[in-house]
Amino acid sequence: MKNREAIADHLNVIPRNQHNISRKSISDSALKVLYRLSKSGHRACLVGGGVRDLLLGIQPKDFDIATDATPEQVRELFKNSRIIGRRFRLVHIRFGRDIIEVATFRGHDEDSLKTETNEAGRILRDNTFGEIEEDAIRRDFTANALYYDIHDYAVLDYVGGLQDIEQRQLRLIGDPDTRYPEDPVRMLRALRFAAKLGFTIEQAAADAIFRHGHLLAVIPPARMFDEVIKLFHSGSAVRVFELLREYGLLKYLVPALDEWLQDEPSEAMLDFIDQALVNTDSRVNTGQPVSPGFIFAVLLWPVVHQQASQIQPDRQKMISALIQVGEPIMKRQVRHVSIPRRFSQMARDIWSLQPKFHRTQGKQPLRLLSHPLFRAAYDFMCIQSMVALMPHRLCHWWTDFQLEHEVEREPESRRKPRPRRRRRNAG
Ligand code: ATP
Ligand code: MG
Repeated sequence: MKNREAIADHLNVIPRNQHNISRKSISDSALKVLYRLSKSGHRACLVGGGVRDLLLGIQPKDFDIATDATPEQVRELFKNSRIIGRRFRLVHIRFGRDIIEVATFRGHDEDSLKTETNEAGRILRDNTFGEIEEDAIRRDFTANALYYDIHDYAVLDYVGGLQDIEQRQLRLIGDPDTRYPEDPVRMLRALRFAAKLGFTIEQAAADAIFRHGHLLAVIPPARMFDEVIKLFHSGSAVRVFELLREYGLLKYLVPALDEWLQDEPSEAMLDFIDQALVNTDSRVNTGQPVSPGFIFAVLLWPVVHQQASQIQPDRQKMISALIQVGEPIMKRQVRHVSIPRRFSQMARDIWSLQPKFHRTQGKQPLRLLSHPLFRAAYDFMCIQSMVALMPHRLCHWWTDFQLEHEVEREPESRRKPRPRRRRRNAG
């Protein structure tokens, strides 16, 4: 491990007039935290994705702050805060719906009781505090290790991150053969950032994924769930899916799908996944709601569909076949990625509702329309109809049917016409 002086020798300071980060693009809450820490005599910097995205001209989705104040000191400065995490203790400061994450600079001390690793080198806990130089080199990628110092608005670069951002590449800090085993989730992060930012993964970091991918099998399933959702709700799920296959990591996320893909998959079903991910990306990128339940319904559908059709070729009895095969498939899945129950149930309901869309006579359509998951199941069905897994006309039929029955679907409270308020100063 390099010492502080050696790291500091590489420091490149980019003063405020030589970079494009403006305080106007930083949220008021993040600025408030930075200034209060700074006024209390602490060092405070914006770090991570916030700095990276601002340099790239992208609006960051959240702001992370690093400081030399301990979690307890931060906690005392902000009433609206709480200490979270065990592996890494952090402070969350809440401003309405906005949460600002504050981390204390971390050092690296192999002998310390506060840094715990297992035999494979995986970090189980790391609460050794340190200086900014040490904090910089324990981050994952150089592009994620830039600091925007609120004291003089300069950007601090200890690891050549600025050059990598300019070259649009993801370079792991340090030796990939150490850094991936320390935390195998970094491999998934590499694919997510590569997809989202359109960066290439630098050769050494890319090659090492093939050597260490298998370590993802030991990540706790709850953490895997968070990462899978970040991957598929990144707004670049189509590219994420390609990269997961290219790097052989899909089998640690959705093993049943990976096996299905090895086994001469049908074109229509491949198109279905692609189309569903295109749909998810466009929803994320236009701010429409998305659900983990829908993602898992999509990713496991090829397997569920195949097995259900095998045990029950008769379409009339398809619902019970889907329920029957869905259960063990989901059971196997949650051993790898622990999907909260409401989402796994949603996926199973989306599947078993599919055959009902064939029934367009009598009272059945209205009953289906009032199902709480109608919208999600309908979207799923329309994607199937786009790739000819369902008759094309069904999507049109149900789209029209919904329009005709819009009033019936509105919640009770919204049905009454509201009295219009006159605007006094209209015009
Ligand atoms: P985004 O928030 O856009 O998804 P981000 O880079 O900010 O991307 P976060 O998960 O918010 O990612 O983490 C903030 C920063 O913490 C990262 O930029 C990185 O410097 C550091 N970091 C996060 N996870 C890891 C990890 N597993 N190993 C090393 N450093 C990490
Ligand atoms: Mg972030």
